[in-house]
Amino acid sequence: MENKSKILMDRYEFGRLLGQGTFAKVYYGRSLETGQSVAIKEIHKEKILKVGLMDQTKREISVMGLVKHPNILQLYEVMATKTKIYFILEYAKGGELFNKIAKGKLKEGVARKYFQQLITAVDFCHSRGVYHRDLKPENLLLDENKNLKVSDFGLSALSDSKRQDGLLHTTCGTPAYVAPEVISRKGYDGAKADIWSCGVILFVLLAGYLPFHDSNLMEMYRKISKADYKCPSWFPPELRKLLSRILDPNPYTRISIAKIMENPWFKKGLDSGRGNTSVLVEREMIPLHTDDNICSPTECCSSVSSETKLEVTKPNNFNAFDLISLSTGFDLSGLFVSNDEKEDVQFISKNSAASIIAKLEETARCLRLKVMKKEGGLMRLEAESECRNGTAMTIDVEIFEITSSFHLVEVRKSSGDTIDYLVMLKQCLKPALADIVWAWQGEKQPI
Ligand code: AMP
Repeated sequence: MENKSKILMDRYEFGRLLGQGTFAKVYYGRSLETGQSVAIKEIHKEKILKVGLMDQTKREISVMGLVKHPNILQLYEVMATKTKIYFILEYAKGGELFNKIAKGKLKEGVARKYFQQLITAVDFCHSRGVYHRDLKPENLLLDENKNLKVSDFGLSALSDSKRQDGLLHTTCGTPAYVAPEVISRKGYDGAKADIWSCGVILFVLLAGYLPFHDSNLMEMYRKISKADYKCPSWFPPELRKLLSRILDPNPYTRISIAKIMENPWFKKGLDSGRGNTSVLVEREMIPLHTDDNICSPTECCSSVSSETKLEVTKPNNFNAFDLISLSTGFDLSGLFVSNDEKEDVQFISKNSAASIIAKLEETARCLRLKVMKKEGGLMRLEAESECRNGTAMTIDVEIFEITSSFHLVEVRKSSGDTIDYLVMLKQCLKPALADIVWAWQGEKQPI
C-alpha cells in the first residue's frame, strides 16, 4: 500500500502514511465523492488471525460504529478485501495530544479542557456499555480546532504499545496507564478501570511525566497497586484531592464519573448554566432515539402481548462475524449476495429487547404468523398456510445484546419457499419493523 496514488474501492484516495502500529498502518485519505479528509487504517487480516483476535475485532468494530460523540474519533465505515480490513476514520488534523506533552507539561487550563473532554467522551461510552480498557495519550488525538478525539474506543483488541521513543510513551508491555485491578487480573469493572487511566492521563498532562514509573517492572506494579505517586509541588490542592480520588487502588471506593463531573477543579471554566460538559464541544451530539414509539396508532394491531420474557444472547458468547457488516456502508467486496437476495438479514435496534420482541409479536399477528418462542433470544415465526412448495414457512429471529443500549436482530428462513420468503421479507417484514430498526445490515445508518 506504499503506492500513494492507490484508490480504495473507487471511494478513497490514499495519501501519506500518518502512523503505524503492530497491526495497522494509518494513511491520510480523501473521499473521491466529497473531497472530505479521512484517515484510512489498514489492517492485515492475517496478523489479527494469527493472534486469535478476529472475532473480538469484528465485534468491537461494530461497537465502535455505534459510538458517536464529538470527542470520539468517528468510524465512518469499514471495508474489507480478501487480505485486509480498512477502517475509514475521521481525520484528526492536530495529530497526537502526546506530541504536545512531549514538548513539556501543559498549562492547567489547557490540561483541564482536555480532561473535561476526555471524561465527557468516556462517560458517553460507558452510558452505552462500551469501555475503552486501553486509554493512554497515544489514543488521544486532536482535530483542527484543538478538540480532543479519543481513538480506538471499542477497539481494545487492536491496541498495542507500539513505540518506545519518548519519556512519556508506554514502554512496550508496561502497564503505566492500567488500573491495579486490571494488572492483578482479578476481573474488573471496565468503567472504574477507565477512570483510573483518565487519572494517569490527567497527571501526565499536568506534570509532563508518568505518576508510576520504574525501570523495574515489578516495582512499577507495586507502585500502581499501592497508588504510590507524588504530585509535583505546583499541583494545586484541589487537583491533588481529585487525583487522590481517581488514583484510588480500590475500584469500589474510587470516584465515579458522575462525581468527577461535580468536582470543583473539574468544573472550572465550564458553563455552569448548562450544567454539563457537552458545552465543551462545537459539534452537535447525535441524538439517540428512545424506545417510546413502538406501536403507532395507525398500525393494524394495537395490543401487545405481555408474554415478552425472552433472554437475549449476550455478546461475549457468539461469533460476531456479521456484526462487522453493521458498520455504516460496510462493503465486503462481493463476498455476499445483494441485499435483496439475502435470506439472512440483520438489523440493529436501539430499542430494548422487550420492545423488540413485542414489535415482532405484533408484526407476526399482522402477517398471520404464529409465534413460537424458544430459549436464548431465539423466536420462531411460523406461517399458518403452506408455501408454494408445500411446506410451511418458518422464520427464526434471534436477538443479541451488543451493549445495554443496542441489540442486533438476525432474521433468517428456517423452512419454506425461498422466493415466498424473500417477497415477504421485502414487502411485509422489513416495512413493518421500520419503527424499531436503526440500521439494516449493509445499509447506511441514519445520521
Ligand atoms: P493507531 O494504530 O490507531 O495507534 O495509529 C497510529 C498513528 O496514526 C497514531 O498514533 C496517529 O499518529 C496516527 N493516526 C491514527 N488515526 C488517526 C486519525 N484518525 N487522524 C490522524 N492521525 C491518525
